[in-house]
Amino acid sequence: MTSFLSFADLCHRVEEVSSTLDKIDLVAAFLAGLDDEELAISSNFVMGTVFPPGSDIVMGVGPSTLYEALARACGCPNSQIQEMLRAAGDAGLVASRVVEKRRPQNFASFIGQDQLSISDVYQRFVAVAKASGKRSQDAKIKNLQFLFSQASELEALYIARLSIEDMRIGVGEGGVRDALAKAFGRPADAVERGYSLTNDMGLVAVSAKKGTLSDLGVMLNHPIKMMLAQLGAGIPASLKEIGTAAIEWKYDGARVQIHKDGEKVRIFSRRLENVTASLPDIVRDATQMIHAKTAILDGEAVAIAEDGRPRAFQEVLKRFRRKYNVKRLAAEIPLKPFLFDLIYLEGESVIDLPLSERRALLVKVAEPSLVAEQFLSEKVEVAKRIYKEALSAGHEGIMLKNPASAYTPGKRGKNWLKIKPVMETLDLVVIGARWGEGRRASFLGSYRLACVDPETGRLLDVGWVATGLTDEALSELTGIFKELIVVQKGMEMELKPAVIFEVAYEEIQKSPNYSSGFALRFPRLVRVRDDKSLEEADTLERVASLYKMQRGRNKSPSARSESAGQE
Ligand code: AMP
Repeated sequence: MTSFLSFADLCHRVEEVSSTLDKIDLVAAFLAGLDDEELAISSNFVMGTVFPPGSDIVMGVGPSTLYEALARACGCPNSQIQEMLRAAGDAGLVASRVVEKRRPQNFASFIGQDQLSISDVYQRFVAVAKASGKRSQDAKIKNLQFLFSQASELEALYIARLSIEDMRIGVGEGGVRDALAKAFGRPADAVERGYSLTNDMGLVAVSAKKGTLSDLGVMLNHPIKMMLAQLGAGIPASLKEIGTAAIEWKYDGARVQIHKDGEKVRIFSRRLENVTASLPDIVRDATQMIHAKTAILDGEAVAIAEDGRPRAFQEVLKRFRRKYNVKRLAAEIPLKPFLFDLIYLEGESVIDLPLSERRALLVKVAEPSLVAEQFLSEKVEVAKRIYKEALSAGHEGIMLKNPASAYTPGKRGKNWLKIKPVMETLDLVVIGARWGEGRRASFLGSYRLACVDPETGRLLDVGWVATGLTDEALSELTGIFKELIVVQKGMEMELKPAVIFEVAYEEIQKSPNYSSGFALRFPRLVRVRDDKSLEEADTLERVASLYKMQRGRNKSPSARSESAGQE
C-alpha cells in the first residue's frame, strides 16, 4: 500500500522543478510503481481531479467549506484562517500551517502509525462527495477535518488543494498523458486517444499499464470530449475550403451530450459535467423522442422564449446550474434540444463514419422536432441567406461542416467552421491587477478593466483580462503598473487609472458581478493603447449598445448582417 505522504512528496518535487520534462519524468517514475487502484487514483489526483468528469459524484467543496474545515481542525476562528490566507495566498500553505500548529497533539500520527494511504484519502473524498441533504455541508467539513487531523504538514498541503481540485503543480492532462506513455512505454497518441474517448484518466492509466489501450472506445455513460469548431474566415473563404458544406444554424444555447441507455438518460455539459438532474425536460424529450435502445447524441439546448427567439445564454446556464427547485425553473425557462450529431448507436461507436452517414442515422432515430435543420450547398448565396435567417431568429450565426468528416473528440479542427459576426474591440481602462501564480508569480498576471460612465465620470468594471500576454509583455506591463499601485490587498491591488487596453472578446454578457452590469466572455488583450487618453476610453453606453447589437435586438436583420465583418 502506498502512503499518501509519498504522493505528497512527489507533488512537492514536481512543484519545485520548473521544466515540464522534469515534471513528467518525476510523475512517470512514481506512477510506474503503483498497483492498479493507486495508479487510477493518482493519475487523477496529480492533475487535481478527484473524480473523472461525468462521474455520478462530485466533490462539491468550495473554498468556504475548506476554510471552515481548516478552522475546526486548527481550533481557531475562521477569521484567523482568512488572515493566514491573505498572508499566504494559498489554501494549501494555510492547511500546512494549521497542521503544524496542531502537532504533536495527535500522538498516533506523531509516532508514524495509521499513516494515510492514497486509497484512504480517496475513500474519505468519496465520503465528502456523497454527503447530501440538509446537513451535507457539515458532513463534508467533518470528513475533511478528519483528514487534516491525520495528516502531516506536507500531506495537508495537497489534501487542501485536492479538496478544491486546484493542485497548482503544473501538471495537466497533457502532462499525465506523457507521464503514462513514459511509465509504461506506450505511444503518447494512444494514451491521448484513450483519454479523449473515455475522459477517465484512471481507466486510461490502468489500460496503459496492461497494454490494452486499443480496447478503449466510446463508452455509454462516460462523456466523450466534444468536437469543436474553428472560426471561419468568412462565408466565401470557408466554402472554398470545405466545398459542398453541411450548413446549420449556430444555435444560441448550451452544448449537451445525451447518453440514452434504455430508459435511463444521462446528460453532460460542454465541460463534461453530469447535469442530468437539472434538465428534466431534456431527459423527457430524450426518453420519448429518441427511438434507440442505446445512443449518444450531440446537440445544443436552447431556451426558446414566447416570441420564439432564444433567451440569453445566462438564462440557459441558470438551468444547468440549478440544484434545487429544478421543476419550477424548468417551467419558467423550458429548454429544447437541437441535435446535430450522433456519436454512438446500439452498442457501437459511429464517430469514424462520415458526418453525412451519422446524420442519416440521427434522422432515423430522433424525431424531426429534435433534429437541427441542415442544408447541403456549396453556394455562397445560400449560406448567406441561412446566416441572415439565423441572426434574425436571434441565433449566433452558422456552422459550415465537412460532410465527409469523422467526429473528432476534443479537436478544434477545420471540419467545423463557425461563422458569426465579429465583435468590435473595446478600449478599457485598467483599474486593478492581480499577481500571477507559479512561474508567473513575479508578474502581474491579470488586469481589472473598466469602462467610463460619462455622466458621473465613474469607472465601472467589466471583468478581468488575463490571456493574450507573453512573458515579455507581462514583464514590461508589470514594470509600468508597479508605479501605479494605489493599495494592495493580498494578491490583488488597485491601480491608478492611467493605461488603456484594447480588448477583444467573444461576447458581452449581463452580469451582476461587475459595477457596469456587463462582463466580457473570453477577453483577450489586443494591444496597449499608449496613444489614447483616459477620456477616450469606451463608455458604458457603447458597451450596452454592443451588447444589444450582438443579440440582434435593436437592429433589423439586414442591418445586423451588414455589420457582420466576416462576410
Ligand atoms: P464556440 O463556443 O463559439 O466555439 O462555438 C461552438 C459551439 O457552438 C458548440 O460547442 C455548440 O455548443 C454550439 N453550436 C450551436 N449550434 C451548433 C451546431 N449546429 N453545430 C455545432 N455546434 C453548435
